[in-house]
Amino acid sequence: MRIQWFGHSAFEITSSDTRILLDPFISNNPVCSTAVEEFEPDVICVTHGHADHLGDAMEIAERTGALLIANHELSVFFSRQGLESTGMNIGGKISIDGVGIRMVDAKHSSDIDFTEEVTSGGSACGFIIESREGKVYHAGDTGLFADMRDVIGEIYRPDIALLPIGDRYTMGPEDAAVAAGWIKPEKVLPMHYNTFPVIEQNPEVFAELVERTSPRTEVVILDVGGFYEY
Ligand code: ZN
Repeated sequence: MRIQWFGHSAFEITSSDTRILLDPFISNNPVCSTAVEEFEPDVICVTHGHADHLGDAMEIAERTGALLIANHELSVFFSRQGLESTGMNIGGKISIDGVGIRMVDAKHSSDIDFTEEVTSGGSACGFIIESREGKVYHAGDTGLFADMRDVIGEIYRPDIALLPIGDRYTMGPEDAAVAAGWIKPEKVLPMHYNTFPVIEQNPEVFAELVERTSPRTEVVILDVGGFYEY
């Protein structure tokens, strides 16, 4: 399982030859130097309707024919643009080419904020991507919530957690370290920081907090464009 980071919350997870792109904020992402034309995913998962997460999802789907996966309301929105889309909701799981995709809760908003009128984009979510090679939790944008411990940590038990640490719009490093302690993954990768000045953070501070409070969890800090092989 290969997990590549493109800055912000944009990741591509490749497992069993299936390429899953999550929150592809690429062309307007000030820290990402990968051209949007380079992406050839099979599936694109969108955690919520904000422009820095939905990003280039529709353009990439249109060019590649990739299946868009999002909450019901965003899925209806995608379908109305003529794109192939599958809607889900919190707690549900589907399987694509042997890779499980589960939608889980996130404490955030999801309005579509880049159209002329801001319209409802359903509820924000996270995803758990699951294959024989491992289980990855992409938290989306979220604050700390107790189901990270009681549901995601206790029941779904991901091997790897991708957690936002930028603060202001999501958890900051302290809450994200608490989340890591609750979820108890083998590895944690910080995301949603240093894209813009308002979410500037030192990921090493997060790593030190996790090391102190959850010594069995290792923090993996990726460079933008870098990947981690699990
Ligand atoms: Zn957001």
